[in-house]
Formats: sequence, structure tokens, C-alpha cells
Amino acid sequence: MSALDGRLFDILDANGVDAIWITDLVNVRYLTGFSGSSAALLVTRDISYLLTDGRYEVQAGREVRGAEVVICKKRLDALASLIEERRISDIAFESKQVSHHEWKEMSAILEGRNLLPLQDEVRRLRLVKEKEELAAIRLGCDIAFDAFCSVREMLEPGTRESDIALALVVEMRKKGASKASFDIIVASGKESALPHARPGKKKLEEGDLVIVDFGAVYDGYHTDETCTFKIGSVPERAAEIYDIVLEAHDRAIEFVRPGVRAADVDKIARDYISQKGYGDFFGHGTGHGVGLEIHELPVLSGQSEDLLEEGMVFTIEPGIYLPEMGGVRIEDMVYVTASGAEIITRCNEYMRG
Ligand code: ZN
Ligand code: ZN
Repeated sequence: MSALDGRLFDILDANGVDAIWITDLVNVRYLTGFSGSSAALLVTRDISYLLTDGRYEVQAGREVRGAEVVICKKRLDALASLIEERRISDIAFESKQVSHHEWKEMSAILEGRNLLPLQDEVRRLRLVKEKEELAAIRLGCDIAFDAFCSVREMLEPGTRESDIALALVVEMRKKGASKASFDIIVASGKESALPHARPGKKKLEEGDLVIVDFGAVYDGYHTDETCTFKIGSVPERAAEIYDIVLEAHDRAIEFVRPGVRAADVDKIARDYISQKGYGDFFGHGTGHGVGLEIHELPVLSGQSEDLLEEGMVFTIEPGIYLPEMGGVRIEDMVYVTASGAEIITRCNEYMRG
């Protein structure tokens, strides 16, 4: 079993259960390799079962590692018979994934068994990336970089935001991405002050700040990076906040190493921006894990209790957003090494020469 390893047994032991019922499809993919859109995984000490329906029989046969494939019509009925067969009495489930309706059904069908709610225990197994995962992420970063280079000359007065976003998607797909990691953000002028702006018909103008936030999916793994461009000569204040965000970004990355609290990385970036008088205009966390999902653990915010470990991959993305003028965000993905951080996204490095 690749990832269906001893770490799941630790979860069984720590919670005193005989089985774990995994319904988060991303976790199912991580643990078995199955990439279909309907499945659940039952893990026990001796054997694991991947339950899916007839549509996925061939795909499951090709992809699934480390679990026996069970094709079924009604997943909970199949779960009930497996539990009966394996004499399982205590079963843990991913409580954040199960709706109240499903929980009621599960409780009825598994009457007499103990159902124990898990939080992020299974998701946390994905925190530290393995070599193959990192390789997929790096390839995604290369694709995003190549696409960026192809569209870079569009970043001049007169180009529509939506045309840049579209060209980026097309280029990433041509270069091997299965899709964009999320709806690409191209936001110029005042729109750049909205951290999650949608690219519109607006054309870039001389003096604009333009935020381009994009990423590629390659082999299931996501990338995420943001470059902010100055179109021609920008107002003094725009240049000032650009430099502050860049310094906050650099200081945060410099601080990253195993053993450091994620909350303290956020604090480094936030304190610097506050010191410069723009603390009220940095309204989001400093970063987030990236992998099979665009937003995963760890969380780099003031409330985070995550500790950084070698092998984690996450973003560092401070920003300043001034409603009347526009915003700056500079985002890179980093990989935590034994002694620090390696930047794995390539566009900002390239822009800095
Ligand atoms: Zn982003
Ligand atoms: Zn991000």
C-alpha cells in the first residue's frame, strides 16, 4: 500500500476503533489513487475496501492500490454487510464530510455500533508531501511559468482582463495542465483592491496595478501564485505598497523552517505591514497548504495551531488592498526543507531577474 500505511493504524489506535470510514474523495484519492467522483474507503487493520459504483469498475481496476474494490449500488448497504462480515463494532468517520442527513442514515443502518466523529485526522496525513507529489507540483509550476511567459506581452494598456485570464487557461492546457487550479484572477486598477475579483471586460490602463492570480492542475496536484504588475508608471503610493508587500513576502519566507509555528509566519508578514501603517488593509491569512486541493492544510493565519514540518508545501501571499486605489498581492508556493524554504513557483523570481 502506498499511502494506506501505518499512519492510518495510528488513527485506529488513537481513537480505539476497528475501522475508519473515509468519504472525503480527495483523501480517498490520496490513499488509493482512485480519481473517480464517487467512492468511499473502509479501512480496517487487516484489509481496506474501496466502494464505488458500476460506472467506475474499469477505472477502479486500473487505479486503486492497496484496497479491494467493491462495486455496489447502495454504498451504506455495502458498508453494513462489510461491517457485519468483519465483526466491526467501533467505526470512525470524517464528521466534516458527512451531512446530517447521511449521518442519520448511517446511524440507522449501523445501529448498535459506535460511531466516532473524526475531525481532520485523515486530511492531516496529506500535510507532508512525498517525493512523487512534490514532483507533480513542480511540473505544475513549470507549466504555469511557461503559460505566464506566453501571455506576458499582453500585460499592456488596452488588453482586457478577461482576455488575459482566458489566454492563461488556454496556454496552461496546451502545455499539459488538466485545468486551471481555480477561476483565474486578473484584476486591474480599483478592481485589484478586491482579493477575489473576477476578470471583467475592463481594459488595462497606464498607471494600473494588475493582480494576476493563477495556477495549473497537473496529475491532480494544484499550483497557486500571484504576480502584481505595474502598468507603465504607477502612482507613488502604488509603488510604495508594492515594495512593502514584497518585503513582507520575503521576510515571511525567510522565517519558514521546520518547527516554526504557522501563526508566527503570518505574524512576521502582518507585523511588517502594520508597522508601515497598512495593517488594516491586509485582510486575509498569509498562506495555505496546496496539494490535491487548492486550499489545504497547513493554515498560515493568526489562529492557526499548525507547526511547520519538512516536506510541507504552502503559499506565502501577503497583500495590501486600498479601496480607492487598488491592491498588491505577491504569492509564491514554498517547500519546507530541512533548514528553510525553497520557492517552487517561478514567475515572481523570474520577474525579479
Ligand atoms: Zn492564489
Ligand atoms: Zn493562494
